[in-house]
Amino acid sequence: MQTLKPYISIVIPVYNEEGNLENLFARLYPVMKGTGKPFEIIFTDDGSRDRSLAILKGKTADHPEVRIVEFNGNFGQHMAILAAFEVSRGEIVITLDADLQNPPEEIPKLVAEIEKGHDVVGSIRQKRQDTFFRKSASRMVNIATRKMTGMKMTDYGCMLRAYHRNIINNINQCREASTFIPALAQTFASSPSEVEVAHAERLEGESKYSLYSLVRLNFDLMTGFSVVPLQLFALFGIITALFSMAFALFLFVRRFIIGAEVEGVFTLFAILFFFVGITIFGIGIVGEYVGRIYQEVRRRPRYVVRKIHGAINE
Ligand code: UDP
Ligand code: MG
Repeated sequence: MQTLKPYISIVIPVYNEEGNLENLFARLYPVMKGTGKPFEIIFTDDGSRDRSLAILKGKTADHPEVRIVEFNGNFGQHMAILAAFEVSRGEIVITLDADLQNPPEEIPKLVAEIEKGHDVVGSIRQKRQDTFFRKSASRMVNIATRKMTGMKMTDYGCMLRAYHRNIINNINQCREASTFIPALAQTFASSPSEVEVAHAERLEGESKYSLYSLVRLNFDLMTGFSVVPLQLFALFGIITALFSMAFALFLFVRRFIIGAEVEGVFTLFAILFFFVGITIFGIGIVGEYVGRIYQEVRRRPRYVVRKIHGAINE
């Protein structure tokens, strides 16, 4: 039975990471012991179908610091982190990926930054080790998000982050059905800061994000934290209407000077298709928001915890 209240909580979402967990333990433990502070490590097993949960359970016996939130299905990385936040007790809470892309050795750097008085410490991935496609897509998303939300964060995607207890308490009060934790934390931060951290290739297994789920995640980020997409759309509608009015006027005048026009029918089709495309896109954006509102009003549980394992819970 652990009596000391942890000072640092490490939060790690796990989804089919059996190949990484031993290495993660081997590197994380010495770092945490090295801080000399009481700590806890909270894993959320996000419905893994491999041996991840068994490996983690095996660790709870001789590691009183380890706790596991067991989900009864796959609810996604961000829900997994939120569930761990709810049971975390540390003054400082640090999120980390299980695949060792975020080196645990960087944790003391984040802790030091929080101790300087910052309440959210983000991280910027140095020499990011991902595919070219992921890096370019991520760069675009980072720029678009900064513009749309007005939040100043260099790298939204990096999950190696530290939060002060006050921020965690605020996040724990949120009930939104889909979210993006770094952005959510940023909305509560009064003194955010960023540090540069190393980034490694995924050690074992494959990314748990398909192209589709990445697109979904980025919609969560964009529509969850800003209504700029809707506003841009309204703006575009107004501009188009003005142009078409000018065009109609031009055709009207032309009719008197040159006569009625018949050529360019297919050009007209091209223009028409372009605008039909834009219109469908617009309906899609509205749909994103409506869908989100629908999710919110249903008020279903965001995730379902089957059991919490660990010394202090048994
Ligand atoms: N993850 C999760 N649930 C999911 C997808 C991912 O808990 O549905 C965890 C995963 O085990 C890892 C972290 O979230 O610890 C980041 O996932 P991944 O490395 O696949 O993402 P990437 O690094 O490719 O962005
Ligand atoms: Mg990864």
